[in-house]
Amino acid sequence: MLYDVVIIGGGPAGLTAGLYAARGRLKSLLIEKALTGGLVTTTEWVENYPGFEEGVTGAELAQKMEKQAVRFGLEIIQGTVVDISLNGNIKKITLEADKFYEAKSIILTTGAHPRLLKIEGENEFRGKGVSYCATCDGAFYKGSNIAVVGGGDSAVQEAIFLTKFAETVYIIHRREQLRAEKILQERAHANPKIKFIWNSVPERITGDNIGVNALHLRDVKTGEKSSINVQGVFIYIGYNPNTEFLKGLVPLNGSNYIITDENMHTSVPGIFAAGDVRSKPLKQIATAVGDGATAAMAAEKYIEENF
Ligand code: NAP
Repeated sequence: MLYDVVIIGGGPAGLTAGLYAARGRLKSLLIEKALTGGLVTTTEWVENYPGFEEGVTGAELAQKMEKQAVRFGLEIIQGTVVDISLNGNIKKITLEADKFYEAKSIILTTGAHPRLLKIEGENEFRGKGVSYCATCDGAFYKGSNIAVVGGGDSAVQEAIFLTKFAETVYIIHRREQLRAEKILQERAHANPKIKFIWNSVPERITGDNIGVNALHLRDVKTGEKSSINVQGVFIYIGYNPNTEFLKGLVPLNGSNYIITDENMHTSVPGIFAAGDVRSKPLKQIATAVGDGATAAMAAEKYIEENF
């Protein structure tokens, strides 16, 4: 089956690329390994995406993007891409169980996955107190004490969200200064349920057969060790790009993000990348959709010139 464009990854970048490609009347397929929407679906409330004056849930925004692209003819299937190979100008995309598709161009929009703390207890208590998604798991923690690890936008935004359920939310940050945008910092500081533990890193998570009951910390300045009693540990220490499956197909930067030019073109003709998987300074829904639109238009031009 030969497509004009195969898009790999169904977050905002992929869905927008699909929308633009379908409207350009390109035969377009989007392959997503889980549910469409990507990381946006793990965000409870989005209030910096233009057009939604009062904000919108991540799930609703993702659903709207998907419906809009499908309305114009984007095909979406569920599957995990395990290999991409080149046969001249044609790209072969192999899925699990040896199913494959061929394409004139590919847009890689596989996004990123949460970084792990890699400490004792993290794996053992995953799903039993350790979580990477407040939207998914927050409601289980009514009246509990929760630790949120990290100082970026994700940690602070999700800590604020978790105060809807928790008694106390501790933000554990390895420095004294948050990285999150100023408006989030102001809200967190004004929230009486949020307590900050500065200059500290988690060393161990402990619990029993019911779940987590403590997080053990080390002060990076004094070396002093301490423990807090918490039933939940939400980890937001950044993301790693989903590029392992590419196995050297396109050049990556030192942190394994895909390098593109301003048209989202990688150095491999006909292979584009967009959204969080791409090396770029600002990772937002607003920039992901811009990338997706640019990639689709560039793919259209590439096909016109090469086929
Ligand atoms: P991030 O900006 O990379 O922040 C990661 C945080 O975790 C930093 O505070 C970092 O500390 C800390 N950290 C990293 N490794 C650590 C470790 N091993 N132990 C302890 N702490 C560690 O990640 P993010 O907050 O997930 O955001 C990712 C991207 O998505 C950003 O571009 C962000 O702007 C965007 N985003 C935007 C929004 C929004 O607009 N509302 C919401 C979510 C995400 P340091 O500060 O010391 O490095």
